[in-house]
Amino acid sequence: MKPARFDYIAPKTLAAAVDALVASNGEGKLLAGGQSLLPLLNFRMARPSVLVDLNGIKELSFIEQRGNNVVIGALTRHFQIEHSPLIASELPVMSAAMRHVAHLAIRNRGTIGGSLSHADPAAELPMMAMFYGARLTVQGPAGRRTIAAKDFFVDALTNCLEPEDIVAEIEFPVLWHDGWAFEEVARRFGDFALASIAVSIKPGRSGLDEARVAVMGVADTPLRLENVEKQLCEIEVDGRTPDRFSEWVRSSVTPNSDLHASAEYRKHLLGELAKRAMQTALATKG
Ligand code: FAD
Repeated sequence: MKPARFDYIAPKTLAAAVDALVASNGEGKLLAGGQSLLPLLNFRMARPSVLVDLNGIKELSFIEQRGNNVVIGALTRHFQIEHSPLIASELPVMSAAMRHVAHLAIRNRGTIGGSLSHADPAAELPMMAMFYGARLTVQGPAGRRTIAAKDFFVDALTNCLEPEDIVAEIEFPVLWHDGWAFEEVARRFGDFALASIAVSIKPGRSGLDEARVAVMGVADTPLRLENVEKQLCEIEVDGRTPDRFSEWVRSSVTPNSDLHASAEYRKHLLGELAKRAMQTALATKG
């Protein structure tokens, strides 16, 4: 199918893009990489009166270190994140996750701002935003404001933005990464995940001083499992830790069944991935 008719605007600044959205009276749509939006237009599941193309706004494409954070512009492509030496050294879990995002052609065009805004519950970048406790800087008619990732993802394919808001950049705090792992299973490599888990641990004297755990594919949004992080930091680490961790993770989620997998299968799968992830994190903690 072909999209319904729309006007097309290609602003050169973020302020002009916000003005274009305001002028569209809620009928406008932003175009970033187009990898999720264009299928929706072609199937006429979205019928915006105007497309506001972000691709000419150069200020939105960058990856840079600011103090103890890595900040990524919303128009930065998946491919650039995947191959960034800064991301590899400072956000290694994200670097590992990027290899699971779709296929090369899609990673060449898809953007971090588009992926977060699309808010697919089985997409890697929304999960990474939860994992790292990212903060999104959003520009709207009243200026800029910051939204924590935990408040941004409201439901499956639903974020908290107003129709005139644009994600400008995303700030990722650098975590300890003494031992970490990213595990995912999809039906075919490059498909959306059936289940996935990210883990990072900081060893202490006999146990763990810090732990970070996030999962996806098992709820309507990606989840950070803070209860499990707390449990991990209260035990002595020994040979039983991966099994105990697996059980805690499994019992923390209540997935839905869909045409790709039953709820029981997703839960079982996540438990197995959790066990594997903890084994890897403990083995690499140095
Ligand atoms: P677009 O398609 O341009 O936009 C998506 C939505 O976000 C639109 O509503 C748009 O208006 C809005 N938007 C875009 N930019 C902004 C912004 N800066 N501020 C506010 N709103 C904005 N993704 C994965 O993570 N993992 C996968 O395994 C995966 N597999 C895929 C397989 C296929 C076959 C396809 C087609 C896509 C897949 N994707 C996957 C999705 C891909 O990563 C997309 O690139 C991404 O979800 C959307 O990014 P985009 O830049 O293309 O956004």
